[in-house]
Amino acid sequence: MRLKDKIALITGVSSGIGMETAILFAKEGAKIIGVDMNDQAGKKIIEQINIAGGTAAYFHADVSQASETKAMVGFAEETYGALHILFNNAGIMHGDDGDAMSTEESIFDLTMAVNVKGVFFGCKYGIPALQRAGGGSIINTASFVALLGAATPQLAYTASKGAVLSMTRELAVTHARENIRVNALCPGPLRTELLMKFLNSEEKRQRRLVHIPMGRFGKAKEMAKSALFLASDESSYMTGTEFLVDGGITAAYVTPS
Ligand code: NAD
Repeated sequence: MRLKDKIALITGVSSGIGMETAILFAKEGAKIIGVDMNDQAGKKIIEQINIAGGTAAYFHADVSQASETKAMVGFAEETYGALHILFNNAGIMHGDDGDAMSTEESIFDLTMAVNVKGVFFGCKYGIPALQRAGGGSIINTASFVALLGAATPQLAYTASKGAVLSMTRELAVTHARENIRVNALCPGPLRTELLMKFLNSEEKRQRRLVHIPMGRFGKAKEMAKSALFLASDESSYMTGTEFLVDGGITAAYVTPS
């Protein structure tokens, strides 16, 4: 088992990447604290993990709220005694996010609050817990759009993921000598609720698919496997990376510097 006796907190556990990661990490021996705002779905996933013989607990938190993220880290330490893996994964892509002219200030602010402040708060309260545990691994979910402009405008989302990637690099450098690794998982376009709601017509989906060399959307399960690598000691010499899992999209479009 690759995460035996590790304690892992995963935000956005009720759906998509967070859900698949919680299931996989539990199979690999980790104790899971699953965090989300969608309590019904989240509690169901945690229950499934426990029924399957894993160890997991659910905690309700809105990651854009400092007090709630502080409480989720406190809950992890109280419940399982420590925290070793922090997966700051919860994120939103709002249906009204568009180009600079069409995106309302309120949509921009909301996107930044969840996607950027959510990661900041996770680290603000999570890093002291990792320090108390003697080190650990932080994974922040960014996106391929932190590196490329998206074909379908989503300005607030793109800006937020750029911030997540920059923050990850600085955190990695700051905490490198504390046995704390910090990496950004940069998924390509996935067939999850988040993206399918946004690309809500076949035309929009095809427009995105044209750019993916593999010719298909990725799966949440494929992101969970990547998160497992970043969480485990197999990636022990990796920190501050933009870990791209994108079906080849950046290989096709990023020009070498
Ligand atoms: P998803 O919508 O399936 O899951 C996101 C989860 O986060 C949901 O359970 C939701 O309830 C939760 N959440 C939203 N706001 C929250 C908040 N304020 N506090 C706590 N929980 C909250 O989406 P997903 O595809 O699994 O996305 C996970 C991460 O991956 C996100 O950060 C997303 O931006 C990123 N990502 C997704 C794609 C994609 O194509 N789906 C691509 C690149 C990056």
